[in-house]
This record gives sequence, structure tokens and C-alpha cells, in this order.
Amino acid sequence: MNAKVAKLINEQINKEFYSAYLYLEFANYYGAEGLDGFENWYRVQAQEERDHAMLFYQYLQNNNEKVTFEAIAKPECELTDHMAPLKAALKHEQYVTSLINTIYAAAYEEKDFRTMQLLDWFVKEQGEEEKTASDLITKMELYGSDSKGLYMLNSELAARTYAAPSLVL
Ligand code: MG
Repeated sequence: MNAKVAKLINEQINKEFYSAYLYLEFANYYGAEGLDGFENWYRVQAQEERDHAMLFYQYLQNNNEKVTFEAIAKPECELTDHMAPLKAALKHEQYVTSLINTIYAAAYEEKDFRTMQLLDWFVKEQGEEEKTASDLITKMELYGSDSKGLYMLNSELAARTYAAPSLVL
């Protein structure tokens, strides 16, 4: 594998674990606020991010590339109110999309079709992540300022269950 592509994928492992850490921080915040549905939502989201990290890890392993684990940064976010994590999540997912696109561009440059095929799944996944994050902001804007509305939204988010990723390596 091209060294630059391998390096970017290795870095992405760390970024996905950071995403998991960030979403756990959100879960932690909502848990302390008594919003157990929101807490559940972000705990499941953190699990998905760990899955993303493990997919990249497995991909490098499968291609005989050395994996190097670096320190995972402290989550950087100011959780000032119930809306703040939702907006931070959308911003973060847009950032992750840009990271996936950068790896894709490097793979494209190297005619690394195998990596491009792997990344096709992540490109689609990022589209879904951004839509989900954006929809959640809309729902919060519509219902979040009303206590009954917030209770209903919290109940909706409590129903989210973890599902393993559809991509198998
Ligand atoms: Mg991810």
C-alpha cells in the first residue's frame, strides 16, 4: 500500500476513537442532566465510532500494514446547554467527512482501488451521519424548549439500539 494512504488510514483510527470519546462525553453530560434517552443515543453512537476505528485497523492488518496507536486527545467541547452537544456533533461529523474525503483523494491519486472501495462505505456512512445529526438539531429546535416535547424526544432517543456495521472486511 502507498505509504501516504496507509499513514492517513492509521491516523483515521485515532480520529475514530476520538469520535467515540467525544460522544461518550456527550453521553456523560446528558446522563448527568437526567436525559437518559440522549445519554443512550450517544453511548450507541460512541460504539459505532469504535467500530469505525476497528474497521480501519482490520483493513491495515489485512494489508500487512503496521498499525501505530497514538494517544487519544481529551474531548474538546463546551457543553453549555442541551442543544450544544447536538450542534457540536454535526460540526464534528462534517469534519470527519472532510477527513474521509482527504483519504479518498490520496487513494484516488495512487489508483488504490481497493482502498477507494473500502472508503465508498465510509462516504455513504458520513452522508447518513450528517443527516442524522442535522435532523436531531431540527427536532430539538421544534420540541426541546417544551418540557413535554423534550420528554417525548428523550423517549424516542432511548429506543436506539446498537447494530453492528453493515461493512464486513
Ligand atoms: Mg466515524
